[in-house]
Amino acid sequence: MKIPFVDLHAQYLTIKPEIDAAIQDVITNSAYIRGPHVDKFEKLWSEAMGMKHCVSCANGTDAIYILMRGLGIKPGDEVITTSHSWISTTETITQAGGKVVFVDSEYDTFNLNAAQIESKITSRTVGIIPVHLYGQPADMEAVMAIAKKHKLWVIEDCAQSHLARFKGKLVGTFGDAATFSFYPGKNLGAYGDAGGLVTNDDKLADWCATYARHGGKGEHMMEGINSRLDGLQAAILNVKVPHLQKWTEARRTVAARYNELLAGVGDLVTPKVAANRDHVYHLYVIRTEKRDALKKYLGDAGIGTVLNYPKALPFYPAYAYLGHQTSDFPVSYANSSRILSLPIFPEMTDEMIQYVANSIKAFYAAGR
Ligand SMILES: *Cc1c(COP(=O)(O)O)cnc(C)c1O
Repeated sequence: MKIPFVDLHAQYLTIKPEIDAAIQDVITNSAYIRGPHVDKFEKLWSEAMGMKHCVSCANGTDAIYILMRGLGIKPGDEVITTSHSWISTTETITQAGGKVVFVDSEYDTFNLNAAQIESKITSRTVGIIPVHLYGQPADMEAVMAIAKKHKLWVIEDCAQSHLARFKGKLVGTFGDAATFSFYPGKNLGAYGDAGGLVTNDDKLADWCATYARHGGKGEHMMEGINSRLDGLQAAILNVKVPHLQKWTEARRTVAARYNELLAGVGDLVTPKVAANRDHVYHLYVIRTEKRDALKKYLGDAGIGTVLNYPKALPFYPAYAYLGHQTSDFPVSYANSSRILSLPIFPEMTDEMIQYVANSIKAFYAAGR
């Protein structure tokens, strides 16, 4: 048996007639840039989120950058975020002129440790970017209380957390605005790069939409950038949005089955979900001291696994200039050598899940 880490083709086959028709419609109408499919997507996604505005753009990274510019970040402004994420969360802070300030992650949830935020606040701090990593909500109650007290903005990085909830409320609806990636492998994925942001702030939405499109069509109100969602990607996303809830539930079913089959196996730590969180399992991440050997064993058994991510952000060469020690972020540092993401996607069959679990059990049974 071969189990890929994700199988985007399996999902395509379940919606092929709708996708093929949507793509054909874009071509028939030459609706390549902007146009009805993009307008429809912005409406569908703002409605799905219960937010006033969705501004689509080229990818999830741009969405973070555009928002920080819209929130008026100035050179030297400090932004606090997690040490355990994908680099989009932090490279955009620097691109926008800001300074990246890391906090450690929590052991249980992998998310930013809110209890450490206040110790990092200075007179230059302007905002916080919590990431709902792997699909589990960060502690938005704590983050919002700190933001309110210190008058900071909050951008939620929801690239991995479409439809996840904290205390029953959708993530992405807590902060000033939230960003989404619709990269193919994300829980809601296009067939190329795609992204967007949501907000209830009319002025912010208008500024971001203008900035992302060369600073305005016809009259250039300012210099902007070119970051557009294209019609083909929007048409594909429009087909997928109505299926997202069902796919999210399927991911939860896979995760629950893994939890059941992997309980008490070897030294494995299966994902822990904190109270009041509805996890959407973009990734199913286990931890073990024998990570590298297990990864190799599973690879030999035809099972695709990934490291999300091989290092905590402060320890990449890109952030060497900050001069951090591993002891500055002990949880993120320890996790990076233990984490392993197992295959998870809505179309996984029980047979596939059992094959993965049995292979892991065989690894430990062989005394490795
Ligand atoms: C995927 C991802 C992004 C950026 O998305 P792109 O669409 O690839 O630019 C941002 N933050 C996190 C946490 C992500 O996983």
